[in-house]
Amino acid sequence: MEALSRYVTSSGCKIYTFPVRAFPELVANIYLITDGQHRILVDCGSGMNRSNRDLLAGLKAIEERYDEPTGLEKLSAILITHGHIDHFGGLPFVRQFTQAPIGVHLLDRRILSHYEDRVVVASRLLENFLKRAGVRAPDRENLMAMYLFAKEIYHSTPIQISLGENGFQPDSSCSDGISKESQDQSSTIAVLSDRISFYHVPGHCPGQVCLRLDDILLTADHVLSRTTPHQAPESITNNMGLGHYLDSLNKIQALDGIQLALGGHEKPMNDLAGRIREIKRVHDERLEQVLEICYQPKTTADISRELFGPVNNYHILLALEEAGAHVEYLYQRGELVATNLAEIESEPDPVILYQRC
Ligand SMILES: [Zn+2]
Ligand SMILES: [Zn+2]
Repeated sequence: MEALSRYVTSSGCKIYTFPVRAFPELVANIYLITDGQHRILVDCGSGMNRSNRDLLAGLKAIEERYDEPTGLEKLSAILITHGHIDHFGGLPFVRQFTQAPIGVHLLDRRILSHYEDRVVVASRLLENFLKRAGVRAPDRENLMAMYLFAKEIYHSTPIQISLGENGFQPDSSCSDGISKESQDQSSTIAVLSDRISFYHVPGHCPGQVCLRLDDILLTADHVLSRTTPHQAPESITNNMGLGHYLDSLNKIQALDGIQLALGGHEKPMNDLAGRIREIKRVHDERLEQVLEICYQPKTTADISRELFGPVNNYHILLALEEAGAHVEYLYQRGELVATNLAEIESEPDPVILYQRC
């Protein structure tokens, strides 16, 4: 495997990484952390056939090139950086080979452990957002069908560990699915909780975490080398939204001693603070653009079109959510107001028009 890389932290932990094709147009990075004794898989791809194949091939390549025992049955734990399917969708596949405990932040646990609930409830909230944004019924139906398409590939999987800023914690509220074996493993990985620090960085996803090993930070989808990580309004999901995201960027920008940052997609970053400054600048400019657009009353769908121009397929939904996150941020802070109050008051599913103050 060409794209396999190995990094060594200042205390000698090894971080292996390789890409998997999570979806036809999306490559995601998988990480395997080891201190020589314990092996922790960080993220596991989407669960699509190609993604699962790439995952097995990547682990095999580590074994062949570095003589590191990496079979799925040899894992000590599986950590999921956040509740997006390109990162956790492979869990049911991985579970066939290992009883290693699975960890995720508390705020994304329900997505993984009660997925059917998540899909139904989140779909309704998304549909409400699209109605308020001014997306017409036929377009809305298309977007909802696209949103639900990839949701078929996953089924709920019990979670055994909650990730927090205090490290690993056994998940007491959801003990189903824990075998004696995985409890043993849970105690062995407690050793590693001394070595890995977790930073909760809500915004891109409610339970988004970054993992720090010495001088290397796994930034997951919180900071990426090329793309400005996607934002959606917290009216769809609490603890998302641009306000949370910018606070979380500040939190990571303030870390000292990070020599290398490795994202959930794209390339490694040598200048994490510089990359965070660039991402903040993109959002500042976008907020300015929204205010410019809103000299006249506009719907979120209008604003999305003016910000991003013509886009296709799934990108329409991403653009609407991105625009919605910026509109929400400005509305929460009183820089935009809703102008059609009579309609909002009287109609069952009102479209909201926003204008700058
Ligand atoms: Zn993500
Ligand atoms: Zn991702």
